[in-house]
Amino acid sequence: MHVIRFFAQHYYTYSCFPRTGPNREIKVALESYWKGQSSEEQLLRTAHRVEADAWRLQKSAGIEAVGLDGTLYDQVLDTITWLGVVPPRFKGLMGLRRYFAMARGAPGCAALDMSKFFDTNYHYLVPELDADLAPAPDFAPLLDKLRRGQEALGSRQAAVPIVIGPVTFVCLAKGCPLPVGEAVGRLLPAYCQLLRLLGAGGATEVQLHEPILTTSTAEDLQTVFQEAYGKLAEAASSCPSSSPSPFPLSLHLVTYYDDLGSTYPWAVQLPVAAISLDLRGATGAEVTSQTMQHIRRYGFPYDKRLGAGVVDGRSVWADDGTALALIRELLPAGLSPERLIITSSAPLQHLPYDLAAEGDHVPPELSTRLAFAVQRVDEIVRVAEAVRGGQRTDVAVEAPTEEEAPSEKAAGEAAAEVPSAAVGQAAAAGGGGGLRCGLPAEMFSRSEPYDVRRGRQVQMPAFPTTTIGSFPQTPEVRRLRQQLRSGQLSQSEYERRIAGHIAHCVGVQEALGVDVVVHGEAERTDMVEYFGSKLGGMWFTVSGWVQSYGSRYVRPPLIVSDITYQGPMTVWEYGVAQSYTRRPVKGMLTGPVTILNWSFPRKDISRARQALQLALALRKEVEALEGAGCSVVQVDEPALREGLPLKRERWSSYLGWAVDAFRLCTAVAAPGTQVVTHLCYSDFEDILHDIARMDADVLTIENSRSGNAMISALAAAGYSHDIGPGVYDVHSPEVPSVDFIRSRIRSFVETGILGGRADRIWVNPDCGLKTRGWPETIAALRNMVAAAAQAPAEL
Ligand code: GLN
Ligand code: ZN
Repeated sequence: MHVIRFFAQHYYTYSCFPRTGPNREIKVALESYWKGQSSEEQLLRTAHRVEADAWRLQKSAGIEAVGLDGTLYDQVLDTITWLGVVPPRFKGLMGLRRYFAMARGAPGCAALDMSKFFDTNYHYLVPELDADLAPAPDFAPLLDKLRRGQEALGSRQAAVPIVIGPVTFVCLAKGCPLPVGEAVGRLLPAYCQLLRLLGAGGATEVQLHEPILTTSTAEDLQTVFQEAYGKLAEAASSCPSSSPSPFPLSLHLVTYYDDLGSTYPWAVQLPVAAISLDLRGATGAEVTSQTMQHIRRYGFPYDKRLGAGVVDGRSVWADDGTALALIRELLPAGLSPERLIITSSAPLQHLPYDLAAEGDHVPPELSTRLAFAVQRVDEIVRVAEAVRGGQRTDVAVEAPTEEEAPSEKAAGEAAAEVPSAAVGQAAAAGGGGGLRCGLPAEMFSRSEPYDVRRGRQVQMPAFPTTTIGSFPQTPEVRRLRQQLRSGQLSQSEYERRIAGHIAHCVGVQEALGVDVVVHGEAERTDMVEYFGSKLGGMWFTVSGWVQSYGSRYVRPPLIVSDITYQGPMTVWEYGVAQSYTRRPVKGMLTGPVTILNWSFPRKDISRARQALQLALALRKEVEALEGAGCSVVQVDEPALREGLPLKRERWSSYLGWAVDAFRLCTAVAAPGTQVVTHLCYSDFEDILHDIARMDADVLTIENSRSGNAMISALAAAGYSHDIGPGVYDVHSPEVPSVDFIRSRIRSFVETGILGGRADRIWVNPDCGLKTRGWPETIAALRNMVAAAAQAPAEL
């Protein structure tokens, strides 16, 4: 029988605190280790120190139970190694060599696939589970983490191990031939063993993270969850007699990223001691109201504690009193303060580490309105103290006044005071009547249909070649940008040198015979940050790094007020590149949806409205490029799919305004201007209709890892515009041979796409080349151009 025990603590965090370290210590340590400049021991020492510092930071802020997070690369990869479900190709390797081979590949051993983690911008390594799934667990690293946590926090109760739950783990794997229930069943003995080991190690509680419960996938998994958690509860209640704990281990089921939807009634009945729910969501008030409604309608089981995710873990806007107000709403729903755990709505790993690191860089009007991970921890503690302090008086606690904690609403009011430039006004027009914000329909449509446009656009040979935009970002290029920032280089000297890089890049493409040339994006640190820094209404941090994957961190800009166009952003680079070649140079823009999805949005106006504001600004840039003579404009939307809500029923609303934003941005192009778009992660068979609605003249997609699945689907759906499926994977330094690329091109034609029309199937790499070195880039493109030239004779 499962024994329920309430925790002694009141407040809490999911932790999953940013694991980068306050000063990107993990990135630095990893890169030095990979270069062979430091030992495994040094790497682990740094990692352990960063973890322990984060745990202690939370404890000293007042958090009473700290989730033991931290990873060298990725928490899913950690789980793969703990459970011992390592794909056979890595079996010859051990320890960290094997760990990093799975993350980054090794000679003769392709890395695990990478995929987006739910609706976040974090990428995890995809487990590969095959039909003879048989875990060979090694929990020593996790037990060591528990021991280190207990030592750092000076308490057993405060140190709470975090494990990805078995159902979520299985669902994160792709292409597993076993039914989910069967795969979970195979993993359960390992999970049960783990719980017993953690109990024996003195853990009093363990967090099992099951964010899959907030997705549409979980609707069919009721039995799987019930069976799995029945077994886990049994294992947890049977701690070995050697356990220093007098209690059985408490299971804490943690969900986040969305509400539980239709899974609520049965999910909250799972036999665990506590369940954490997201009361904020990432995108709006919908998740809050859904979770509240569920609690009111179905109640919350009397035998459990509720982890109330009331402190917003996804946004950077300081709490305006909403967190405490939500707690107040929960109390009449039968949840007494002692049954509540106050926590963040989602892991804090998606926020930058500490606002204080920005120092004077934060504009005064923003300084009190923002909160990063460290500040969120304080908010959790403040809310918990208010609840505790107000316990006897039914939590008659004063919400902080606006001066103390200016609100998200206040943020909106402040934004509204900013004189709206034309862009802001246009997008704001219509007062919310319809998602197009009152903008006239013709602004969303090209003036001619595709068939007419195509005849007027650049004419190309069979299997035309191009690239996706970026070329190698060498240390020298990065140094230039740094020198500009630090004032070592004047703007004009910087531009002179960037122009040199553009000349080199164009020269290489000319020499190789690439048909549509790019300038190479040497001036861009990051495709969103670059535009963020040039548009009005966006603010970007100096050290607000957020992990994208492994050692790759990004600094997402913040949308802080109405977006305004402040003048050309890419026209100079275009002009420099075009001056060196007679071939067409592609103008290169990041699309509105991608800028929005890779930024921290405002909370006071809808994302749809912010997307349209961005689209209007970028539309001006399209016009400016055309004005400068540009006849091919690429608008990248790699993050279009990433914004899809976790719940399918919300997809059409998102895609409605997202595709509209792309159209608003590009519809201004003259019929003779070729509009190209680029999408990464080609698993969008389920949104083909929306891709078609983008009405791009050329669609380039990442394709190598998905075996033509996407072009086959486009072919089957009768997709009729030009298409450029990636012919080789840019994530690997390996140079693809001419034969290999030729066979790829042949395979595209064989899918039947565009009836095999050679002038309309483009030949390009999967994605930008910025992470590659020059020698392999030149070799790969040389082979690509040769293969494209040979293809027409063969096909
Ligand atoms: N134009 C960008 C580049 O080449 C596109 C990157 C992307 O798709 N993520 O780098
Ligand atoms: Zn891409």
